[in-house]
Amino acid sequence: MLVNWIKIGLTTGCLLAASACSDSADNNEAPAAVGFAEVDTKRILETSPGAEWLSHSGGYDEQRHSPLAQITRENVSNLGVAWTYDLATNRGVEATPIVVDGVMYVTSAWSLVYALDARTGAELWVYDPAVDKRVAVNACCDVVNRGVGVYDGKIFVGVIDGRLEALDAKTGAVIWSTVTVDQSKPYTITGAPRVVDGLVLIGNGGAELGVRGYISAYSAETGKLVWRFYTVPNPNKAPDGAASDTAFTSVGNISWGDEGAWVTDGGGGTVWDSIVYDHVGDQIIFGVGNGSPWNRTIRDPAGGDNLFLSSIVAVDIKTGTYKWHFQTTPGDNWDYTATQSIILANLPLGENGAPRRVVMQAPKNGFFYVLDAETGDFISAKPFGPQNWAQGLDKNGRPVENPAARYGKASFTQLPGAMGAHNWHPMAYNPALGLAYIPAQEIPQAYALDPLWKSNPSKWNTGTDASVDLMVDLPPGMIKFLRSTLKGRLLAWDPVKQEARWSVEHENAWNGGVLSTAGGLVFQGKINGEFAAYNAENGSKLWSEDLKSGGASGPATFEIDGEQYVTITTGWGSGYALFAGFAYDEKVVPTIGKVVTFKLGGTARIADPELAYIERTVKTERFGTAEQLQLGLVQYARNCSVCHGPVAISSGVLPDLRWSAYGGDGDAWQAVVGEGVLADAGMVSFSAFLSAEEIEAIRAYVVAQAHNSLAEEAPKN
Ligand code: CA
Repeated sequence: MLVNWIKIGLTTGCLLAASACSDSADNNEAPAAVGFAEVDTKRILETSPGAEWLSHSGGYDEQRHSPLAQITRENVSNLGVAWTYDLATNRGVEATPIVVDGVMYVTSAWSLVYALDARTGAELWVYDPAVDKRVAVNACCDVVNRGVGVYDGKIFVGVIDGRLEALDAKTGAVIWSTVTVDQSKPYTITGAPRVVDGLVLIGNGGAELGVRGYISAYSAETGKLVWRFYTVPNPNKAPDGAASDTAFTSVGNISWGDEGAWVTDGGGGTVWDSIVYDHVGDQIIFGVGNGSPWNRTIRDPAGGDNLFLSSIVAVDIKTGTYKWHFQTTPGDNWDYTATQSIILANLPLGENGAPRRVVMQAPKNGFFYVLDAETGDFISAKPFGPQNWAQGLDKNGRPVENPAARYGKASFTQLPGAMGAHNWHPMAYNPALGLAYIPAQEIPQAYALDPLWKSNPSKWNTGTDASVDLMVDLPPGMIKFLRSTLKGRLLAWDPVKQEARWSVEHENAWNGGVLSTAGGLVFQGKINGEFAAYNAENGSKLWSEDLKSGGASGPATFEIDGEQYVTITTGWGSGYALFAGFAYDEKVVPTIGKVVTFKLGGTARIADPELAYIERTVKTERFGTAEQLQLGLVQYARNCSVCHGPVAISSGVLPDLRWSAYGGDGDAWQAVVGEGVLADAGMVSFSAFLSAEEIEAIRAYVVAQAHNSLAEEAPKN
């Protein structure tokens, strides 16, 4: 029997016992806090980012550029680990911490919240919202969380199951908890709340399955809903009695037909990440996600622009009333969200080079946009990487599409793919140098119409079929070839000239968010674990450290008692790791998440992950007719691949089905897939979507992939 091994991380003692795993390097004195998160809008506007990091991206303009300059190009080589802290989960970690009054507030997978002494990493409290693990099946892109908001002594967290909760900053006790979604629908929350003038702003996700997107404002004091703005019309195009009503009667409703899957499946348009407060215009500017289903011919056969999908929208802060919008991808057909980082800045784009307040975004569709912040007027856009879906933009910034990109039954291989030319990993902007730093990537994708599609908003429901070009037995070398098409880079972009200043090429896509500092540095983690500091002017690498886990989240920096710290959360998971297992296979070690904090002269170390080994053996002989295997391929692609990876290669976040013992036993396989015996672990029953015959065909396909993998890896004589 062919045997080899894959490494996985142990998830033993630290799970749900985080305190036992704290690895503080320094003393454990209580923080010198005068209060706990006594933050208001004035304090954020006037002081952050500075010594503290009070809002998700540092300050309300979300530039992720700190004025701290103790760590410089000259001394960054002395940067060392100050402390590490083990989070209580082993899934993807995407959080940027908040640092206030000497305390760091951070989140991990499953929406857990942690309060730590920011100088030492000593744990003050941990809050577990006790999520029912079955909600994991609604999470397109892992059960991640990107961080908390703080205000008036409270910590606000959006929970993966749709709750918004306020915790006592001192103790972690729940002050209020409100459900922000219809929990019978596949909504999730992964984004960080923003808090402005006593209002907590939160959106949601779920457009890959079937929901109607919106953003809500809740009272920070009471948890009561203040306003809500829907991004897709009411299915009847009737008023909702919501803040968005005037937007739909003025411009939104006519951009949708009266029929199509959007009427039953919600239409999408989820506001799952970027929400920015523009204090100059007293407005909230947010990014809107893709259409649901992705495929517009199914979603809305009339073929309209489908406002406000894939748009940047501005609304009044107090009432949520519509002010302006700019749609980056009219009639979205490809999961081209415009939810990526939104940054506000003054650029010399006014008359005679006068400062003009602008909105910048590098959304999934591959163009870097500069808009007027007051009016939403299009100023400029240019592609920041290779793309083949548009021939260019017209003078209003509307794409001139490549007709082939409106795919049918035949596939079109497109750049960017659904993972985007830039995803959630936050970009930064250095106002002194006038450069934006984009975690850019190339992940091509073949799109084709799903001929078997039937509306089913409780599962992966995009109207596209990824299996059209696949074969049960891929030609030798195909996986290696697919890997070679995946690229990532740190790109320094001049938003005035709309051109690249420099770039650093990475080994793979899906690299980390960016931090810019007045020390002339740009910090970025990589998915392979390297955390590096680059010269902000030319991209030369000045320092790096091995995080020993994935470094995808946005770093933050702060200063306490005259010392500057840089911190990043680490972990293995999130959308790409779940989906693109073929990009890694044996290379990445999933392990518990950590907070890793650095300072000049730090001498602590990052513990090596504890490793276990899974036997890579086939669990049964190959079986199934060609017809059965083809059925298995199609149903695997439609139901399983988004979590367990295309061609059944998992990245290790979730079980690699090729080596699963269940694969060797048809009855056990039926019990898991059909009856849901592992539902508590997040693997719910698929009996509503798959017949017993289809479930068995998937097993035949998975077993065939196990045999193929070992044959390809075996030494050739
Ligand atoms: Ca999406």
